[in-house]
Amino acid sequence: MPATTARSTTGRPAAPATVTASAGTQILLTNVTKHYGLATPAVDDVSLTIEPGEFMTLLGPSGSGKTTTLNLIAGFETLTSGAIEFNGADVSALPPHKRNLGMLFQNYALFPHMTVAQNVAYPLKERRLGKPEITRKVGEVLELVQLTGRDDHYPSQLSGGQQQRVALARAIVFGPNALLLDEPLGALDRNLRATLQAEIHRIHREVGTTFVFVTHDQEEAMNLSDRIALFNNGRIEQIGTPEALYESPETLFAARFLGDSNVFELSGPLGESIPWEDNVWSIAPETVSAQASAAEARVALVVRPEDVRIAVDGAEPPSGSNAVTATVRDIEYLGSYRMAVLSIGRGPTAGKARLGARESEVTEGQTVTAWWPVERQHLVAV
Ligand code: ADP
Repeated sequence: MPATTARSTTGRPAAPATVTASAGTQILLTNVTKHYGLATPAVDDVSLTIEPGEFMTLLGPSGSGKTTTLNLIAGFETLTSGAIEFNGADVSALPPHKRNLGMLFQNYALFPHMTVAQNVAYPLKERRLGKPEITRKVGEVLELVQLTGRDDHYPSQLSGGQQQRVALARAIVFGPNALLLDEPLGALDRNLRATLQAEIHRIHREVGTTFVFVTHDQEEAMNLSDRIALFNNGRIEQIGTPEALYESPETLFAARFLGDSNVFELSGPLGESIPWEDNVWSIAPETVSAQASAAEARVALVVRPEDVRIAVDGAEPPSGSNAVTATVRDIEYLGSYRMAVLSIGRGPTAGKARLGARESEVTEGQTVTAWWPVERQHLVAV
């Protein structure tokens, strides 16, 4: 379901008028490529539609092309080929200041000699708004980021989290077409990151503007996003809701990047059943990704640790499951649950199974049967 539809049915409070000048802009990338003159392009033929008001995260490892894509949207970099449109208008040749975008980076980039109110008022002054309107908008946006009463403070008198709120207020106060965020929480400690994550989530809901968020942190992406575009080597490996990426990974890269996985590499394309070492496993057709079902695709079977169960003392796994013999190497205590670290089959395959309450008798050194319901496995392209 598009994010905008979900938003209109949840009865969220109306956003302050000042920061909703734009209800959200659609951003369309068509065959976007950026070459810096290296052997491979930084961004390689990326096509992507970001819907109005959507929270879209560009996720991927370092060097996968996320920031370059964001900079192309912002106009800080020029396209080698392809096109970028905002609400159907081609902006490919527009300089950054004509794109009307808010930007938020890891380093807050506040003006140190200006107060909080002056920093936030800056983009409004640039746009030549009248003084009463500036005062009103600054007041409203400071309330939105919960900094009311700090108007006269200087950045050096604020904590890192507060400075980032000021930067956020400054980036949205003028009603931008979209807010672009490049690892904005990267410099903050873990607790503060969680707090600001929740704040960004709330502000996105209240403001309704399109957000494009760059991160390499899968948990952050899962928490915040309507959809995630997963980058790998300058290309989009997979795009979808956090649930879709986690529940239906197309490729081994996607399965490994989002969440923990037990991985069984298969020796050839998928047949009627799945041979792995001495085992022959069954296939649930709905667990085969489109890429894995391509004729010549190399395939891996992936199972999440929370979907693996352990049977001890020769207990039989239920029908409708696939099973393998494993040895329990270690049991990790992780607070709310325990994780069994397994070595599986004959070779070097390592695995993990999250232990439930009924698996309290599992101990280190045991030979066990690890099993999973067939519909909880994923067959992905390698
Ligand atoms: P990410 O944001 O995913 O870490 P980047 O978009 O920053 O990735 O980088 C993608 C690739 O482009 C990397 O190989 C990087 O070294 C290269 N790159 C990025 N910016 C430049 C630049 N200004 N000049 C040359 N190469 C660059």
